[in-house]
Amino acid sequence: MSDATRRDRRIRARDAKRVAESLLRDGLPPGDDVAATVELTRHLMEILGERRDAHRASKAARTAERVFEASIRRTPGTLAVACRKGCAYCCTNFVAATIPEILALAARLRSDWPDETAPVYRRIEAAGHNPADFATADRSTLTAPCPVLGPDNLCAAYESRPLACRGFASLDLDACIRAVTDMSVQIPNTKQRALFRSRCSMALWAALKACGLSHRSYDLHHAISIAVSDRDAERRWLAGEDVFAGVQTDVSRRPEFETFVDQLIERASM
Ligand code: SF4
Ligand code: SF4
Repeated sequence: MSDATRRDRRIRARDAKRVAESLLRDGLPPGDDVAATVELTRHLMEILGERRDAHRASKAARTAERVFEASIRRTPGTLAVACRKGCAYCCTNFVAATIPEILALAARLRSDWPDETAPVYRRIEAAGHNPADFATADRSTLTAPCPVLGPDNLCAAYESRPLACRGFASLDLDACIRAVTDMSVQIPNTKQRALFRSRCSMALWAALKACGLSHRSYDLHHAISIAVSDRDAERRWLAGEDVFAGVQTDVSRRPEFETFVDQLIERASM
């Protein structure tokens, strides 16, 4: 390798490090400019491309989640949200997440709840054994408490909840309550959360797709039971095993998202 090539590589690595630090510190800017989302995609591709790291999938998810939180800190919005600690009507909704997010959630549960007899694992195991209606129905049409939700109405792994959970902050508690029994009720979300959630999710999907990994979204209630029961799930999934076979996927993903994902990959690969 020539000195010039070595120097170019050093400069590229230094620039990439600076961009990653800025994303984690400042998050994404508000508005329609997608350049920062392209940078996030590139950074996530670098994480996922680090093949010696056996935990690169969950690391990528944690990075996307941190960038989401930094984005909200930077642009919190002005509308008053109805969300409060212990309010959890929304945790009975269908939640879809990528496998890296589910693996990161499982890792957090294992770290925070090392006792394998903790009640959270009994709930998760029960959710993994589908009742008859869950086994056959489109699960997105059913409401059931998320198994990660405790009897105190608190998420047992709040710091590691998926982007779908982070991206939701209601402006109307009454709508959340009505939505538990009527799925046609529209719950007003804040513009910022919806935007940042969408950008962080799409960057993660794009990076996964670019690295040849599944970028689908899986039914969290079912997939988390597999992720917590198999400590080797991340390694096996990264090695190409279909560890999450049989879990419902992509129920709520719009086709136009795929076009945006492909555009992100193209721009991040330049
Ligand atoms: S989204 Fe609705 S149910 Fe969930 S915490 Fe906010 S107000 Fe409560
Ligand atoms: S992961 Fe946590 S925040 Fe998300 S639905 Fe489950 S209990 Fe609620």
